[in-house]
Amino acid sequence: MHLIIGDITTLPVDAIVNAANTTLLGGGGVDGAIHRAAGPELLEECKQLNGCSTGQAKITKGYRLQAKYVIHTVGPVWRGGGKGEPKLLASCYDTSLKLAVEHGVKTIAFPAISCGVYGYPVSQAAMIAVKETANFLELNEAIEKVHFVCFDETVYEAYERAIDSLNHE
Ligand code: ADP
Repeated sequence: MHLIIGDITTLPVDAIVNAANTTLLGGGGVDGAIHRAAGPELLEECKQLNGCSTGQAKITKGYRLQAKYVIHTVGPVWRGGGKGEPKLLASCYDTSLKLAVEHGVKTIAFPAISCGVYGYPVSQAAMIAVKETANFLELNEAIEKVHFVCFDETVYEAYERAIDSLNHE
């Protein structure tokens, strides 16, 4: 697991993960950035997918991105934490990684799913992201590298603390 600050759309990895919404028809934040960078063919493919449930994931090609695939997952909207948000967020990481393995992906990059307009507290989300990914990597050797792409310093620091606390468990 590797942390970087930057724009996920520029990364030369096999797959990037999109923090999409249930329609899969594009939106703001990282979703908008990925659609702009991939080009209109991405939306055309997404229209064929019939949306995606919260906590699940679907895969498309990457079109004009360097990444061969985009894995679209739908994070939970934060509603205080008592509405199953942690399980749903963990499932985003787990189902995305499973799809990645099924498609022979070896390097993958995740944004901080649900940490933008969906309002998930960043420190809690970072803990789930690194824990779920570490658990997955322990059981699956196919994935060689997972990048957590942090859009700003605050998110980066939250991931640093999460990885630190995982190492001290
Ligand atoms: P959600 O709806 O799941 O909350 P957002 O796109 O609003 O998704 O935000 C998720 C995270 O992605 C936020 O931390 C946001 O700052 C970050 N983000 C926005 N644009 C990019 C980008 N181009 N690359 C990486 N991360 C990004």
